Amino acid sequence: VWDDCLDLIRGQVGDQSFKTWFEPIRPIKLENDTLTIQVPSQFFYEYLEEHYVHLLRQCIQNELGPGGKLEYSVIVDSGSVKNQAYAVTLPNQRQHKSANNGWGKGADSPEVLNPFEMPSLDKNSRYSNLNPNYSFDNYIEGDCNRLARSAGIAVAEKPGITSFNPLMIYGGVGLGKTHLVQAIGNKIGEEGKNNFVLYVSSEKFTTQFTDAIKNNSIQSFTNYYLQVDTLIIDDVQFFSGKEKTQEMFFHIFNHLHQNGKQIIMSSDRAPRDLKGLQDRLLSRFKWGLTADLQMPDFETRMAIIMRKMQSDGIYIPDDVVEYLAYSVDTNVRELEGVLISLIAHATLNKTDINLELAKQTLKNIVHDIESEVGIDYIQKTVGEYFQISVEDLKDKTRKKEIVIARQVAMYLCKEYTNHSLKSIGYHFGGRDHSTVIHAVQSVSDMMDIDQKFAQAIEELKKKMKMKLV
Ligand code: ADP
Ligand code: MG
Repeated sequence: VWDDCLDLIRGQVGDQSFKTWFEPIRPIKLENDTLTIQVPSQFFYEYLEEHYVHLLRQCIQNELGPGGKLEYSVIVDSGSVKNQAYAVTLPNQRQHKSANNGWGKGADSPEVLNPFEMPSLDKNSRYSNLNPNYSFDNYIEGDCNRLARSAGIAVAEKPGITSFNPLMIYGGVGLGKTHLVQAIGNKIGEEGKNNFVLYVSSEKFTTQFTDAIKNNSIQSFTNYYLQVDTLIIDDVQFFSGKEKTQEMFFHIFNHLHQNGKQIIMSSDRAPRDLKGLQDRLLSRFKWGLTADLQMPDFETRMAIIMRKMQSDGIYIPDDVVEYLAYSVDTNVRELEGVLISLIAHATLNKTDINLELAKQTLKNIVHDIESEVGIDYIQKTVGEYFQISVEDLKDKTRKKEIVIARQVAMYLCKEYTNHSLKSIGYHFGGRDHSTVIHAVQSVSDMMDIDQKFAQAIEELKKKMKMKLV
């Protein structure tokens, strides 16, 4: 049976994932429609459950019929085996996981987020849809999120009462919007009052609404939403262009707001950039507070990694933590992804986590990490750091930010490559060597007088050194 499952799975997941996550599994027992498989670790089990539960369920039901179940047996460190009673049965019978290891549980995946798929919008049913793993406690604070986080706490303490209503959180993908808005919801829920907190993605709201139209059940749809005390709507950019849905949301929004109910929203961009949303809705958003989330800086990234390690009970040496915090600067989700792969590799190969392994892992994930610091690498790194294109660095532009970034890049080329001044100038759009000398001098001068600038250079230098190790 398991072999047949594997065949199915192989067609559905990538080679690498198959090797990593499915090959190590051993089938050990088949009894009364229940297949027991053995997995190498608790972490492994959790990962499978989080990422592949749909697939596994589908396979098991294909092979064993609708009553088919899957159980895991986890090899514990000592070599003994612990059984995880866990049923891959029907979707809404799925047990809610109790394991709280502090990792975000992929909030955007409805499977994890909604262990109890909302069966109907029955007025009497209250499903918050909140994922208990998202808390303020494990939401690391930094300059990147200070305003949003503290506004969130204020709202959670006095929902509907502060002037932060609605509270609108915006920021790029993977920067912690869902985590934050859910943490607010969870905190309100903890306060315990007879408080109906509802988290819903805009996508889900839209689906529910269109279903309600189809089924002639608009009445129960609105009744349901109008009894909410705190409404959390994630990713409102999804409403863009959906006129009817926006109208409905506008109606619900007004009603709740007038009745002193709290509304919390997230979006992947600032309200002014939300194309396709009606002005009257946008103007409502401005009634409260809008706060943005940025990519955490290096220190905050370190703190995030350490916090994850701590809650996972995993030890990662300092140099690896630093390396990861320096290298992964796109978004927090990616940072977590790299960390997960690293732990998985170490578990599978039964090795310790060290810098070598970290580099290897990262190499597999991040496409083009060159092996040596060269002009290209410096230009790319500096460009990313200052959010300026490499073209601009080489171009004639005299905009101040670009000039500074260009000088920094030249300075680093002088420090970390063997290129002559002439060659460096050549690689920056054919400038001459005196321009490079001037750049090197300006950067040193600026480092002396501007501490923030000096820090930025230090951070970039560490990126260079990481590469040289
Ligand atoms: P978004 O909704 O903005 O795409 P998420 O809220 O899903 O991002 O965050 C992605 C992952 O990063 C989640 O696992 C979340 O727990 C984690 N994360 C984001 N910001 C922080 C933070 N400040 N501290 C700890 N974890 C964070
Ligand atoms: Mg999200």
